[in-house]
Amino acid sequence: MTAKLLILPGDGIGPEIVREAEKVLVALRDRHGLDVAWEHGLIGGAAYDAHGEPLPAVTLEKAKAADAVLFGAIGGPQYDTLPKALRPERGLLAIRAGMGLYANLRPAILYPQLADASSLKPELVAGLDVLIVRELTGGIYFGRRETRTVESHRVGDTVVPKAVVSSDVEEYSDFEIERIARTAFEAARLRSKKVCSVDKANVLESSQLWRETVIRVGQDYPDVELSHLYVDNAAMQLVRAPKQFDVIVTGNLFGDILSDIAAQLTGSIGMLPSASMNAAGQGLFEPIHGSAPDIAGKGVANPLATILSLGMLLRYSLKRGDLADKISAAVQHVLASGLRTGDIAAPGEAKVGTVAMGDAVVAALG
Ligand code: NAD
Repeated sequence: MTAKLLILPGDGIGPEIVREAEKVLVALRDRHGLDVAWEHGLIGGAAYDAHGEPLPAVTLEKAKAADAVLFGAIGGPQYDTLPKALRPERGLLAIRAGMGLYANLRPAILYPQLADASSLKPELVAGLDVLIVRELTGGIYFGRRETRTVESHRVGDTVVPKAVVSSDVEEYSDFEIERIARTAFEAARLRSKKVCSVDKANVLESSQLWRETVIRVGQDYPDVELSHLYVDNAAMQLVRAPKQFDVIVTGNLFGDILSDIAAQLTGSIGMLPSASMNAAGQGLFEPIHGSAPDIAGKGVANPLATILSLGMLLRYSLKRGDLADKISAAVQHVLASGLRTGDIAAPGEAKVGTVAMGDAVVAALG
């Protein structure tokens, strides 16, 4: 059956980098037998300009009807003064909610050719390949929140008269923990079969449920090695010896922080793809970087994160790991041949533009 994709270029460098990923898609269809069809849609600032809203109903409908969505980036300074509900980032939050995307998969891969780009010593990071699986629709970002004025407030042994108090509730159900844990174990089966679950079970009640549930789900995956770390230790281990990890699974808040640490280990924001998946296996695939207004329209953006996001789309939504491997091999070939966009070039190294980088990947696909 023909796979159906929706392509959402978005704003800033979005259209430039997505165009290169589309060339890869054309090559896979025409030369490697991928049975796929796709259409385009508007989201973010581009959708606001055309329709006055960041996620038109027609875009969400098409996204839900597609097997997967390839997304560029959204946002730009021209939209910063809009009311919150109309801002481009609302479009992204709304499409994630509308598609029920609860699992965020963020690989941090450092190709050996780029080991010098990391702030860590090359021997600590060369060949790094960690996958962070972050729960995306629960936890403290979606819990009850309030700000109230109270007549008295206890701080340790002291009672403060009249205080403004704010709270955000971290809440997880065993249902939510179980489904993200299964995503992590399934992903680990496609990799090195190790899951490290990160929590704060020594302090937080919700983390105790998290740990118990992950252990229970783990019994269904005897072939996958399960370990646990408190989040403070996990942060430390990620910068001390990051290659010890295969898959890390964690909640929304801890995942937000740890995935940025892991991304920074690679030193190259223009190289990192991501996926957000729902229970039906549909996903939204996007580079982790933003719309880079500072370089938009200049033809210098690195398209590799978007091309690798297409690789994740093929692996996780279309179950074509063979073609995902082909993309990954083509990217490695291009890096090994010395091609660099500005963001990954060493000082003094020659640079190529967005289109040349995309063309090189297409050529390397064979
Ligand atoms: P950014 O990721 O857009 O840019 C940060 C820096 O990295 C910039 O110097 C940029 O030039 C560079 N960079 C990013 N992607 C690159 C690429 N592919 N090739 C080469 N260099 C690249 O983050 P920002 O500057 O904080 O945000 C810019 C806009 O993007 C804002 O409007 C923000 O809201 C939006 N944003 C969108 C997303 C998204 O669409 N998912 C994510 C983050 C930020």
